[in-house]
Amino acid sequence: MKTAIGIVLAMATTTVIAAAAADPEAAPVAKGVAPGVWMIPGGIRPDLQPDGNTVVFEAPEGLVVVDTGRHEWHRAAILRLARERGRPVAAVVNTHWHLDHVSGNPGLRAAYPGLRVHASVAINGALEGFLAESAKDAAAYLSDPQVPEATREDIRADLRTIENGAALRPDVAIERSGVLHIGGRDFAVHLARDAVTAGDVWLYDESSRVAVLGDLVTLPAPFLDTACPEGWRAALEEVTGVPFEVAIPGHGRPMSREEVARYRGALDGFVDCARSTAPAADCATRWTEAVEPLFEDVAEDEPRARGLARYYVDMLRANGGRSRHCAATDGGSRGSSLTP
Ligand SMILES: [Zn+2]
Repeated sequence: MKTAIGIVLAMATTTVIAAAAADPEAAPVAKGVAPGVWMIPGGIRPDLQPDGNTVVFEAPEGLVVVDTGRHEWHRAAILRLARERGRPVAAVVNTHWHLDHVSGNPGLRAAYPGLRVHASVAINGALEGFLAESAKDAAAYLSDPQVPEATREDIRADLRTIENGAALRPDVAIERSGVLHIGGRDFAVHLARDAVTAGDVWLYDESSRVAVLGDLVTLPAPFLDTACPEGWRAALEEVTGVPFEVAIPGHGRPMSREEVARYRGALDGFVDCARSTAPAADCATRWTEAVEPLFEDVAEDEPRARGLARYYVDMLRANGGRSRHCAATDGGSRGSSLTP
C-alpha cells in the first residue's frame, strides 16, 4: 500500500525509538480537550502503520466520533469512552478516507447499529483507484522477507479492510461546506476539495472553540501520498479564518492558533523547497527544524520527521510537485474532481 508502505519504509531508514509500553496492544487513553470534548491520540507503533487522532463530542443524541483509527486497540479506546460516558455512538464523521482514519467504521457500526457515518464521497473514487491499486501492490511486500512480520500482519489487516471497503462508505455524503446538525449538535463543517485527498472534511465547534483538522495538520510530517499541495494550502488559509482556540491535528498533539500558523508556514516552505533544486536533505532539515516546537516527543519525532520529509521530497519531485493521485486539473487549486 503506497500510503502505508511509504510511511513504513521511510521510517525504516531512521532510528525509530521503540515505545516503552509494556503491552504493545494497549489502548490509548482519551484526554479531555474542552468540556464534553475528548481526544483519543493516534500514534505510530514500531513496525506498524499509523492511527490518526480521534476527537469525540458529547451531543444530545450520543457521542459524535470524528475519525475511527486503523487498529483494534484504537477502536477499543473509543468504545471504552462510550461505555464510561454511558452514551451510544450516534454519529461518525470521517475527515478523509485514509485507512488510519476510517478502518474503525465497521467495528463501531457493529457495536452501535444506529450510528450514521458522515463523510465526503471521495472514498468512492479511492476504493476503485488508490486503494484497489494499493491492494495489488501489497503482494510484493507480503512476500518480501525484509519486511518485518508485524508490518506484514498490518498490511494483511488493511487488505481485509479494503476488501470490505463498501462498509467504509458514508451514510450521509458531505457535498459542500455549511452548518450540519450531527447527533443533535451543530457543527460548522468544511469540505476542502483536492487537498490531502480529493475531498477532506474539517470541522469547527463554536461552543467549545475546538477545530478538528484531520490530516491538514499532521506531524511529524505531512502525509502527501494523495495530496494536491495547492488545495492543501488553500484549506489551511480557510482554517486560519475560523476563530478556534484549540485545533486537533490528524496526527500530533492539540495546537494553539500560533502553532497552526507555524505549521502552515512550515508546509509552505516545504512544498516550495521540494519544487526547487535544493538538495532533498536540506528540505528535510528545514521542515524538521521549523516544526520541532510542535513535536510531542522530540527524540521519537525528530528522526521520523526527517525520514518522512526526505521521502516526500522525492515523491513530489517525481510527480511535478504533487502526488500522482492528485486529480486537480488546474495546478492543484480547488478543482471539482472527486476521483483520486
Ligand atoms: Zn492520517
